[in-house]
This record gives sequence, structure tokens and C-alpha cells, in this order.
Amino acid sequence: MMSGGRRTPLELYVHVPFCVRKCAYCDFVSGPAGPEEMAEYVKALLAEIQAAGRMEKVSGYEVVSVFFGGGTPSILETSDIEKILKSIRRAFFMGEGAEITLEANPGTLTPDKLTAYRRAGINRLSLGLQSSNDRELSLLGRIHSFDMFLESYRMVRDAGFSNVNVDLMAALPGQTEESFRKSLEAVAELLPVPPEHISVYSLIIEEGTPFYAAYHEQAEARAAGESDTGLLPSEEAERNMYYMARSLLKERGYDRYEISNFARLGYECRHNIGYWTGVSYLGFGISASSYMEGKRFINCEDRKVYTEAMAELEKNRDIEPALRTVRREEEIVTKDRAMEEFMFLGLRMMCGVSEKRFMERFGVSMREIYGPILEKMERNGLMEWDGIRASWKLTDAGIDVSNYVLADFLL
Ligand code: SF4
Repeated sequence: MMSGGRRTPLELYVHVPFCVRKCAYCDFVSGPAGPEEMAEYVKALLAEIQAAGRMEKVSGYEVVSVFFGGGTPSILETSDIEKILKSIRRAFFMGEGAEITLEANPGTLTPDKLTAYRRAGINRLSLGLQSSNDRELSLLGRIHSFDMFLESYRMVRDAGFSNVNVDLMAALPGQTEESFRKSLEAVAELLPVPPEHISVYSLIIEEGTPFYAAYHEQAEARAAGESDTGLLPSEEAERNMYYMARSLLKERGYDRYEISNFARLGYECRHNIGYWTGVSYLGFGISASSYMEGKRFINCEDRKVYTEAMAELEKNRDIEPALRTVRREEEIVTKDRAMEEFMFLGLRMMCGVSEKRFMERFGVSMREIYGPILEKMERNGLMEWDGIRASWKLTDAGIDVSNYVLADFLL
């Protein structure tokens, strides 16, 4: 879709479902695999990317970001990452200065790999650390110690990466406010220069994981307001960790631009901002979701089904049947649904949701649709009007209960 001769922004996500070992809390579609399975999967990814590029509708789009997520994309052969990026450049119009991020785990990087990533055009690295405390790392089932992370971080800087994210986790079993503070400080003081971006997400006890068996009763007790919840930090302690993250990182020059994300000015993750502001995206690989031209679809999670369908596609180049096999859920995003998403994704960002953009996008004013809810939230001190930006945003109190506030915007 091209408007006024300008291409429409498009984001791409590539799912790499492989990890050295499964972490104890993780319910992502990921796990260990052998070299042959990985090679077969990459072949399927290349076929899907080329097929998507042949669809007429992508011709008016310009790729503004590519995100290799997982899983652990850095577990793949470097030549595979190069092939995937080459394939994307062949199939799509890649914008100049597109942000290209690769998620990597400590213990899976080498100087040669990092040099090759830079050569291939990757300009942002996201490192999964989670904690600087080795006891917490081992409890999480991570494959690395803090020292291994430090070694990887130094390699990343030596290779010349100047846009780096580090992920941390809060509310871990046995984690205290003090140990969380140490993790924050360790990351904010990394040498030779601290990371440009830090993400802080709370642990969620997901069904089907070893953590669920061990902690779900404690998690339920916590949700019911009980203060003694065994090893899991209380809700109050978790809130304090977030306050601590905000103030400590602010002192070190990081701005909280989204509920869980902090960045130095100019280093906000463009890929994520695109997602929160409704930019179209295409996802490749199992379990990847896409949102384009008013439709959302999600690929199947079964690697065998996916690779077989893509092998068929390679043979007869008939896109539709292969995509029908792979795409499991397809949803037409109605105007109501799009308005809801505009609100509850946009409100995650500290700059809030713009009235002007709402009007431009939906042809109706935000107040007409959400007036009573906005007034109620303002009265209760959970949201406020930003007169300079002409936008509505969450207050600090609103951020504390963001799940409750955001749920109110469902139509
Ligand atoms: S490395 Fe990440 S994706 Fe892989 S198992 Fe651990 S948390 Fe899950």
C-alpha cells in the first residue's frame, strides 16, 4: 500500500525456535534441536520469506525493522542468519537505516559470529541476562553465569555494536529488593559503556512449565492478596522493584518510555514502538503472528507441519495452499478491535495515546468512543491529559494497576 508516493512502513519478525536448553519458566515455542533440524527449519523460513515477498500487496511497503527473536537466534549458524537477511532484502524493499535486532544469549556468542552479524547488517543486539545473581540464574535454568554474560557483553562492544539491550527479570522466586537492585546496578554500570536500552519484565508463572508445578499455588495465593506467598516476592515487593528500576535507571540517564522498557534518548526500540502504535508486521516461522491490511494471522506451532508445507511451496510455488496449512488463526480486525488495540497497546507507552492520531485513523474522536472511561480514569487519578502532546496517558498510580485500567478499554 503506497500513499502519496510514499511506502507504508512494515516490520518483520523472524522466529527462531531453538535454545541450548529449556529454561524452567519459559513457555515460548522453543527448545533444543540438532543441526539437521535447524538447517531444515532455516530452509523453510527462506521459502516462506520468498513467498511472502511474491504477494502483490507487499510491493507498496518498506521494511523499517527486522527482529530475530526466539528462542535463541544466536544459536543458528552465522551463515543462516546471513542467508535469511539476504532473502529478506531480495523479497522486500528494505528501508535505509532499518533497525535490525538479533536476540542473543550469553554463552552462544563468539567474536567471529558478532563480526559476521555486523557485516550482515544487524545493528542492534538484545542480550538475555535476567539477573546478575548466579543463584537466581541457576534457579531459572539459564545456561550462563553472570561472568559469562560479562564476557559476551565485552565481545559485543569489541565487535562495535553501539545499540545494545539487556533484559532483566523482576519478582523471581527468592529474589529480594536488594538482589534486584544489585542486578540493576550491575547492568547500568557495565563497562566499557552501559547498554543503551534495558528491559525489565516480571516473571509470570506459565502453565506447563516446571515453574508452574513449583510455584503456581504461591502465585494464586499472591493474586488473592495473601502476603506470605512462600518464595515468590509479594505484590508490594514487586511494585517496589519497579519503582526502584524507574528511579535508579532515571538517575543513570535512562528514560522509561514504556511500562517495562528504559532507554537512553534516541535508543528506544523502534520495532516495539511500531508494534505498540499499530504498524503492520509480518512474522515468519512457527508461532509467528502477522498483522496486515486489517487481518491478523498466526502460524502453527508444529515445526513438522511448517517445514513440510514450506517444502511443498518450494516445489510448486503455489502460495495459497501452503499458507492455508501453516496459518492457524486468521482474524479480520474490526474497527472496534482496532480501536481497543490502539488504546491498550498505546497506553503502555509513557507518551500515551494521541487524540489526533485516533481521529485520523478511525474518523471519530477518542472522547466520543471512550469519553466516560477517560473521565472515570482521570477522576480516580489513573490517567491524565497531556496538553502539550494532546494525548491521554497513564499516571504512576495507573501504571501500578495497568492491567485493570487497560481492560476497561475493551468495547
Ligand atoms: S533462552 Fe529464552 S526462549 Fe530459550 S528457553 Fe530460555 S527463556 Fe525460553
